[in-house]
Amino acid sequence: MPAGSEGLGLYLVPRRLDDGSLNRYRVRRLKEKIGTRGLATGEIELQGAIGFEVAPPTRGLRIMMEALAYSRIHNAMAAAGVQRRAFVEALGYARQRQAFGAPLMAHSAIQVQLLDLQADWMASLVLALTTAQSFDLAQQDAAQQIWLRLLTALAKYRTAEDAVRGATSALEILGGNGYTEEYPTARLLRDALVLPVWEGPANIQALEVLRLILGKSNAGGLFERQVAALLASIKGEAAALAAPLQPALQSYRQALDHLRADPAGGPGHIGAMTALMADLICAVLLLREAALEETAADGKQRFALIAARYIQARFGRRPHAGPDLTADPVNAAERAMLDSERIVD
Ligand SMILES: Cc1cc2nc3c(=O)[nH]c(=O)nc-3n(C[C@H](O)[C@H](O)[C@H](O)COP(=O)(O)OP(=O)(O)OC[C@H]3O[C@@H](n4cnc5c(N)ncnc54)[C@H](O)[C@@H]3O)c2cc1C
Repeated sequence: MPAGSEGLGLYLVPRRLDDGSLNRYRVRRLKEKIGTRGLATGEIELQGAIGFEVAPPTRGLRIMMEALAYSRIHNAMAAAGVQRRAFVEALGYARQRQAFGAPLMAHSAIQVQLLDLQADWMASLVLALTTAQSFDLAQQDAAQQIWLRLLTALAKYRTAEDAVRGATSALEILGGNGYTEEYPTARLLRDALVLPVWEGPANIQALEVLRLILGKSNAGGLFERQVAALLASIKGEAAALAAPLQPALQSYRQALDHLRADPAGGPGHIGAMTALMADLICAVLLLREAALEETAADGKQRFALIAARYIQARFGRRPHAGPDLTADPVNAAERAMLDSERIVD
C-alpha cells in the first residue's frame, strides 16, 4: 500500500444500519466553533463500523478532490447567498431606522455602503453562476475542464472573502443591534467566517491558480483569451464602462510573463495575481449582464450601475491616490435603484 495520501481509499459509513441500530463508531468530542453551530463537527472513531467502498486505496483522494471541486462551487453559491442576506438586512434596517433626524437611508455614506455591498454581492452571484454553468459544460466537453478549474478557484477565493466583508458591513449598518443575537447579522457573520477557511483557504486557491496558469495546459493564456473575448462581445453603452479593464488586462499579461520567467517567485506573488484575475472576471461578467439588459424590453439598467460601481471601486483609481472628491458619491439612478429594491417577494 503506498504511504501517505496515495494509500487512502474512500468509504461511505452510514450512521445507522438496516435494522435501525447505530453503526459501530464513537464520537470522541464535538468541537466548539465560532459559527456553523447548526452543523456539528467532531472527531469520530470507527470501531469495526460497516462501510461501503466508494473508491479503493490509491483512488480515494482523487475521488475526494473531484468532490471538493464541486463543493467549492457550492461554497461560492453560499457566499453569494450570505451577501444577498446581508444586503437585505442592511437595506431593511436602513429604511426604518432614524438617526440624526432622518432615516439612515437618507445619509449618503449609508447609501454608498449599501451600493458597495450590492455590487460585491452581484459580482459574487454572476461569478458563482458562471462557474456552475461551466461545471455543466465540462461534464459534456472534457476540453472545458481547465477553464472550470480556474473559475472554481477564482470563485471560491473571491466570493468567500467578499461574503465576510459583506456580513461585516451589514452588521455595522445595524449598529449596536447588529452585534446582538436579536438580529440575524451576528449569526450571519459567524457563519460566513467559515467560507474562506473550509474547502481550501485563499492561499490554497491561489496556489491552484498558480499551478494552472504556469502548467502545461496554459490556463494563463486561456484566461487572457476568455476575458478579451468577453470584452470584445460587450457592445452598446456597457462597452464604454469597460475602458479601465484594458489596462488591467495588460497588467495581467505583464504579470503572467513575469511569473513565467520566475516561477520560483510565484507563490509570493500569486495572491495579488489571483485578486486581479478575480476582479477582472467579475467585472467582465457584470458588464456582459449590463449589455444584455440594454437589449431587454423592460428598460432596466441595474447591471450597468452595478458594473460601473464595481469597476470604479476595483480599477478606477490608483492605490493611495486618495478619494475623488469631484465625483458624486451616489448618483440619482443609483439612489432610485436602492429605493426600488424589494426586500420580500
Ligand atoms: C467547520 C469545519 C468543518 C470542516 N468539515 C470538513 C469535512 O467535512 N471534511 C473535510 O475533509 N474537511 C473538513 N474541514 C477541514 C477544512 O477543509 C480545512 O480545515 C481547511 O481546508 C484548511 O486546512 P487545514 O485546517 O489543514 O489548514 P492548514 O493546511 O494548516 O492551513 C493553515 C493556513 O496556512 C495556509 N497554507 C497552507 N499551506 C500553504 C502553502 N503551501 N502556502 C501558503 N499558505 C499555505 C492556508 O491557506 C491556511 O490559511 C472542516 C473545517 C471546518 C472549519
